[in-house]
This record gives sequence, C-alpha cells and structure tokens, in this order.
Amino acid sequence: CGIVGYVGMRPALDVVLAGLKRLEYRGYDSAGVAVLADGGLATAKKAGKLLNLEKELAERPLPTGSTAIGHTRWATHGAPTDANAHPHLDNAGRVAVVHNGIIENFARLRAELAARGHESASETDTEVVAHLLAEEFSSCADLAEAMRLVCRRLEGAFTLVAVHADEPDMVVGARRNSPLVVGVGAGEAFLASDVAAFIAHTRSAIELGQDQVVELRRDGITVTDFAGRPADVRGYHIDWDASA
Ligand code: GLU
Repeated sequence: CGIVGYVGMRPALDVVLAGLKRLEYRGYDSAGVAVLADGGLATAKKAGKLLNLEKELAERPLPTGSTAIGHTRWATHGAPTDANAHPHLDNAGRVAVVHNGIIENFARLRAELAARGHESASETDTEVVAHLLAEEFSSCADLAEAMRLVCRRLEGAFTLVAVHADEPDMVVGARRNSPLVVGVGAGEAFLASDVAAFIAHTRSAIELGQDQVVELRRDGITVTDFAGRPADVRGYHIDWDASA
C-alpha cells in the first residue's frame, strides 16, 4: 500500500521508517524494511502496526546502511502474516522487493519458478518478482535491466521497488498503473508512492509515467520505458505545506 526507497548518505532505515509513518494514513495491515549493508541484505517485517516493526527493530537491530526500502502492506493475496509482509526475497537472500497492486499472472509464474527449483516463502503474488529478478540479474548483472525484463512478463497493476546486495548503491523502481514518485536531493534520492514520504527532505520531484523503470543512485536518476528506451523526464516543485 505504501512504498518508500532511499539511497544517499544518511542512515537509510531512519529515512524509510519516517517515510512509512507519513504514509500510515493510507491504511495497512503489515510493514517491513530491507537495508543493504556490509555486502549483504538485512530485512525485518511484521504483521500489524509500524509499532510492531519498530519493536522488532529495537530487539533485533539491523546493520546501518545508506540504501533501504520499506513497505506498508494492504493484503490482497495471502493473509496478513509476518511471512507475507514485504519485502520478499529470492532464495539466496540477495534481492529484496516491495510491491503495491496485484500481479494477475503470479500463479503461472510461480509454477514455472517451482519447476526451476525456486522455493516460495510466502503466499503472496509479489514473491515471484524477487525470484524472477534474481534469475534475470544472474545473467545480465544490471538490476534496472533485470527489472525491465521482469516487468515485461508481468500482468496487472504494480508499483515495484527493489534492491540487490550486488548493487549496493542503487534502488530500482517500476510503475504500471499504480503511482510512484521520485524525490531528488543533493547526493541522495527518494522513491515513494506519495510525496508525503519525502517532503521533509526535498521538494524536487519527478512523477514516473506509465510503464517506466527508474534507476536511483546518489548522483543521478535514469528513467526508461520497459524496453530500455530513455524516457522524457519532467521534474516539478512540490509547493504544498509539509505540515498539512
Ligand atoms: N498484492 C500484494 C500483496 O498482497 C501487495 C498488496 C499491497 O498493495 O500492499 O502482498
């Protein structure tokens, strides 16, 4: 339901958790985060309010890193449990993905993945994306290209945001039908389903278009369509009152 991604120089989990709080008004049943640190990927996710996730993080702190993603879930496929909360990972635990919307053809994709030896850890439609990204990344070693290839195989409405432990300074997002907005800072960048998540940090934004993939790095943003053609990017200034 709510998505936040960050790459920059601050402790990324703090930025992502604060962003998720700003999106709480949308309603949700579970929450989770993933952070890239020390060459690996660490996650925490809990059913229930953000407070449950914060308690979990207080008891079992994650390492500090400067790239992270977070999600508040409104369950459509699979009950609101810890296991079904996002982020979802591939079997090697190197890719993490969060998702808003519904992947209509997930059952067929999951059966194909199972036939290739992938094991599912959840009942969500989302998890197939983590496995597919891992497969594509293993042949192209480019997370944005992997995302484009996966998106071309998905049916339905989705906002997807992903990180890979082998691309430690990068967040990738994709959009079909569900909104996704980029926040552009100095030496940092944000990605969220709503500008409310990052308006405390920057007022410079880019609204992703339909069927676009964005590659977020500290020093720049690249937007393409699902075929990899560079997209026209038009930024705008968010001028509404942040305290509203
Ligand atoms: N369909 C996904 C799920 O049930 C995402 C739901 C959402 O938009 O939060 O996990």
